[in-house]
Amino acid sequence: MQIFTITIFFIFGTVFGSFFNVVGLRLPNKSLFSDQRSYCDYCRKQLGWRELIPIWSYLWQKGRCRECEAKISPLYPVMELVTGLLTAFTYYRYAWSSELLLGLLLIALIMPVTVADISYRKVPNQLLLFFSPIFLVYRIFYPLTPWWDAALGAGVALFLLLVIFFLSRGGMGMGDVKYYTLFGFIFGLEHFFLLFLLSTIYGVIIGIIKMRVKGTGRKTKLAFAPFIGLAALTVFYFGSAMIQWYKQLFN
Ligand SMILES: [Zn+2]
Repeated sequence: MQIFTITIFFIFGTVFGSFFNVVGLRLPNKSLFSDQRSYCDYCRKQLGWRELIPIWSYLWQKGRCRECEAKISPLYPVMELVTGLLTAFTYYRYAWSSELLLGLLLIALIMPVTVADISYRKVPNQLLLFFSPIFLVYRIFYPLTPWWDAALGAGVALFLLLVIFFLSRGGMGMGDVKYYTLFGFIFGLEHFFLLFLLSTIYGVIIGIIKMRVKGTGRKTKLAFAPFIGLAALTVFYFGSAMIQWYKQLFN
């Protein structure tokens, strides 16, 4: 029956992915609650139920609005699919446990932040303000060992990123600093260092690819939050195994 539950998690994941798209796209414009129904971003036509089915609706409409033919960003179906896969994988990996809850909370934070940063180069404060107390409560119920590792992770993350913030002179946004700090709190010091390292590696790799493809040289600006989110998920799923492997190298 496990495959049945995994499928349910995948389907719910794609539906939430669709919601996270809307949150990420509308929060920076503060229009999240101005309309109850979903609409086309170009002609404002309200969407029917068939146009709201995750992934499928994009394929069915061949990536265009049925009313005005405007191209719908492939970001929508991609994020829906990724959210579905991550949700299913998190259940597959952790079954019914506190880790499952943490994983779903991380997905709910990371997906809309990723959409917002790709679309607007912004990590919305509202999302961080909404999720910070939730993760605080989570860590009260399920503390790290030792419990103060969360505070230490957050403190070191904040200090390190503030230094980078001032040295980079606008290269890194304050949103990224806060985003890293929240992950420092969630994961603790050791895992935070791994997260920081991975996000930098991801950013450099994608940055080089982008420079090669677009030929825009060193001035290519990157939305960095997607790499922080990707690194956070890597650390969540594989961090402990990676750190253990690393430590064994020196034994
Ligand atoms: Zn339209």
